[in-house]
Amino acid sequence: MKSVINELSSRLRSGEITSRELTEKYISAVEKKNVALNAFVHTTFDEARKNAAYADALIRDGKGNALTGIPMTLKDNICTDGILTTCCSEILENFRPCYDAAVWEKLKNNGAVLLGKTNMDEFAMGSTSETSYYGAPKNPLDETRVAGGSSGGGAAAVGAEIAAYAIGSDTGGSVRQPAAFCGVVGFKPTYGTVSRYGLIAYGSSLDQLGTLTSSVTDAALIFQAIRGADERDMTCSTRNMPQITLDDDVRGLKIGICGEFYKGLGSEVKNAVESALKRYEDAGAELTEIKIPSLEYALPVYYIIACAEASSNLGRYDGIRYGHRARTYSDVEDMIVKTRSEGFGKEVKKRIMLGTYVLSSGYFDAYYKKACILRERMKTEFSKAFVECDVLAAPTVPRGAFPLGYSGGNAVETYLSDICTVPANIAGLPAVSVPCGVDKDGLPLGLQFIGDRFKDGAVLSASYFAEASGICDIYGGVR
Ligand code: GLN
Repeated sequence: MKSVINELSSRLRSGEITSRELTEKYISAVEKKNVALNAFVHTTFDEARKNAAYADALIRDGKGNALTGIPMTLKDNICTDGILTTCCSEILENFRPCYDAAVWEKLKNNGAVLLGKTNMDEFAMGSTSETSYYGAPKNPLDETRVAGGSSGGGAAAVGAEIAAYAIGSDTGGSVRQPAAFCGVVGFKPTYGTVSRYGLIAYGSSLDQLGTLTSSVTDAALIFQAIRGADERDMTCSTRNMPQITLDDDVRGLKIGICGEFYKGLGSEVKNAVESALKRYEDAGAELTEIKIPSLEYALPVYYIIACAEASSNLGRYDGIRYGHRARTYSDVEDMIVKTRSEGFGKEVKKRIMLGTYVLSSGYFDAYYKKACILRERMKTEFSKAFVECDVLAAPTVPRGAFPLGYSGGNAVETYLSDICTVPANIAGLPAVSVPCGVDKDGLPLGLQFIGDRFKDGAVLSASYFAEASGICDIYGGVR
């Protein structure tokens, strides 16, 4: 795998191409491929041209960096001043925020070029992006398959090479899972390292912005540009994080293997992960067995906490302040009920109801409180694990991309497929998914590294070996 950002950046800095020219190339590619892929829900070509002109000026003045002039995308739950930000929901169909999210503010100042907003599950709730109001994005490797979710549009855009990189959000795997399905790299940083100001909330204690890229190198470059304290997000860490150095020397690297991640895995995923880990061992890494017993409860804990927080976060969509409002109603209460009934899709309503239920006075102790207790236990067990190993290795998803439409009749199986990604969100840990092998249909599978809090550099470095050693070149380096 190559660093698209480094390659484009050196062409821009040498003067071989300008950002304006590069942007036009990407715009043509989006116009050509997006009709079939549905990766973008709103294109922002005027903004892109403006960004590119600014980037060219930065480069001319010698003020550019690796991200300057590079065309990219934002998930449609990231606020962009004056630009549609709909969360792929009817309720926000016409919503144009009056401010930029911190992540876009930073990237824009670095000279990033915004090609558009990408498709996602409604309010980031889902694993296939099929709950999008705009219809599902397609997997660029097989258009009969989903791109994954909820950041499916971003993964499809990077996989189809119609954006150099994408910013997504990961509440329970939404960056890593679509990355695995589309054969790209997905990175969810430590909770609190990247400001969530302007990221429309789903489960606030789990939500984290992340990157979808064609290489680990690119993920590290972007992360260093978007991380950092922000007083507008009180959960954002003020800690100074060291410069990331990617090292493909894994001698002495202690990789923890926790059985819970491997339970009931099909042979394809198991073999792909095992043979990748064998390559790590051959290069000098040590595999060690780790126990995290509470992982058994990861899925119920995740779905209880995520739905509880969602039910509270989505209370603001009442048709009064912004977003969709029902046309006919008898009084305010009727207006709110009709607005929410019309504006939200089925999955979102299901989760609001579940969340309201687990928070209700009669059931709070039985569900929400227990989930919070187990969450603490899991955090403690992870901390202990990271005394014994540097990173944990696990599959990203127990399978390759679902066929389109499959999740409709198999909702439970779809929830269960989040088993390997949700633990990192529950405990606020950094995690990276890199491509590793293919399933029987030739579709990509993912290998995941999870690290201790603020050890983002360690997970990126561990993943970098997969890139440098060719493990990630699942199609023989053709792509
Ligand atoms: N599939 C998970 C869910 O539906 C994760 C979504 C996400 O990370 N935004 O909640």
